[in-house]
Amino acid sequence: MTSENKGVKEMTGGCACGAVRYTITGDPGFSFLCHCRRCQQVTGTGHAPGFKVDNKDITITGQLKSYDVPSDSGAMASHKFCPECGSPVISATERFPEACSVYAGSLDDPSLYKPQAAIFRETAQPWDHVDPELLD
Ligand SMILES: [Zn+2]
Ligand SMILES: [Zn+2]
Repeated sequence: MTSENKGVKEMTGGCACGAVRYTITGDPGFSFLCHCRRCQQVTGTGHAPGFKVDNKDITITGQLKSYDVPSDSGAMASHKFCPECGSPVISATERFPEACSVYAGSLDDPSLYKPQAAIFRETAQPWDHVDPELLD
C-alpha cells in the first residue's frame, strides 16, 4: 500500500457471516483492481480489489473452501471463499506460492485499502469505469 499506510500494524477482516476471520500483520504488498474474467465471475462484479500479503503475515481462523481454476495468465489460481456465506476472502496463484491476495472488501476497515494499479484492463467492462490514474 502507499506509505501513509506503513504505520498500520495490524488489519483484520473476514467473510460476511463471520465464520472466517483473519488478522494481517506486517505491511501489505501490491494492491490492485483485477478486471480478469475469473475475478468477475467469482465476485459477480466488474473487478476484484485485492492486495498481496505474505503467507507468514496472515492468520486465518475458520474453514475456507477453495476453487482452483486457470487464471487469464495461464497460471493456476485458487479462489478461497467461505462455504457458509460464499464470500470470497483470499486468492492464491501458483506464480507466487509464498503469498496470497486478500479481497479488500473483506477488511473490517476497507478504507485502509489503496489500489495502486488496474490489471487485466483488456477485459474491463464498459460499465465498470477504470480509474485512468491506475496504470499497470
Ligand atoms: Zn461466511
Ligand atoms: Zn483477476
